Amino acid sequence: MLRLLELTYENLLAAVSDRYGKGSFLAQTLYREFYKDLKPDAWRAEAIRNSQGLRDRLRQDWCFEPGRVKDEIHEDGLIKFVTELVDGHRVESVILPLRTHQTVCISSQVGCRMGCRFCETGKLGLARSLSVEEMVGQVYQARHEFGRSIRNVVFMGMGEPFDNFENVIQAVRVMSDQRGLDIAQRRITLSTAGRIDGIRKLAALNMPSLNLTVSLNAPNDQLRQRLMPLHDKGSLALLQKTLMAYPLKKGKVLNVAYVLISHVNDQGEHVQQLAEWLKPLRARVNLIPYNSIKDSLFQPPRQGDTDLFREKLIELGVNVQKRIPRGRELMAACGQLGAHAPYGG
Ligand code: SF4
Repeated sequence: MLRLLELTYENLLAAVSDRYGKGSFLAQTLYREFYKDLKPDAWRAEAIRNSQGLRDRLRQDWCFEPGRVKDEIHEDGLIKFVTELVDGHRVESVILPLRTHQTVCISSQVGCRMGCRFCETGKLGLARSLSVEEMVGQVYQARHEFGRSIRNVVFMGMGEPFDNFENVIQAVRVMSDQRGLDIAQRRITLSTAGRIDGIRKLAALNMPSLNLTVSLNAPNDQLRQRLMPLHDKGSLALLQKTLMAYPLKKGKVLNVAYVLISHVNDQGEHVQQLAEWLKPLRARVNLIPYNSIKDSLFQPPRQGDTDLFREKLIELGVNVQKRIPRGRELMAACGQLGAHAPYGG
């Protein structure tokens, strides 16, 4: 099948050459119609209207299955939308209008196996990973269904992107193809709960413009194991070493997300430990006040405590993001989606 949502322009060019013995005219026409003019039935293109045989073959081969938008929630300018996939599973995405552009936060899996205690998605467990088409489809839907001019993509929705590494990387290649969605890699962020193998694989791919966020949430092994049960004892040191070796482009920083939970990881000792752990890294910290989920044992921090934590970090020389980006309350780091998307539909 021709799944355009899975193909870069070069992939499509190779496919139309193999299948139909055609070249760049057909590939360019289909790609432009599909991605620029947002026509899911691009095989109807005017430019190939005289080639009925070719159009019939394209129609038969064509496959467009990103899932259907089943629900949308508008909140404070944000749009959270739920997509039902072909097998009935559901995933969530969020469109965030920022000052000068729009960002879409997408999911990479149905649920997540990491089981982070503060995360709505973690409670679901993992059903399956998403295909390339299902990930690129969320960006396509944000443009096609919601008419938003998406400029940034963050993989911070449901799932651990490095658990679905190959598909995520192909999705990034498709999204960043200049002939298609044209979202520059420097505007795409992968967020991991700290999968060391994934960070190493990404480092080896030589995609230096991509942004990397590590969801840390605890500055010592014991606490991290409590909050993120798949964290191995002793691996904070290994994570730090892995990040020190990560090839950062000049002027770029690693993003470290830290969900602040009242009286769990927001105490004075945690500030010190976090600053110490960050010392050898070129990193910026995003502090995200915990957003209470259903039946949670945890509490959000008070505003004053969040401010104090931030000020102390700055005093200790840590680069901290100045303000909490809008929408964090709704999605928080790579978690807290899932409440409206019980998978299995
Ligand atoms: S915080 Fe991220 S890695 Fe952890 S369970 Fe949630 S989605 Fe998975």
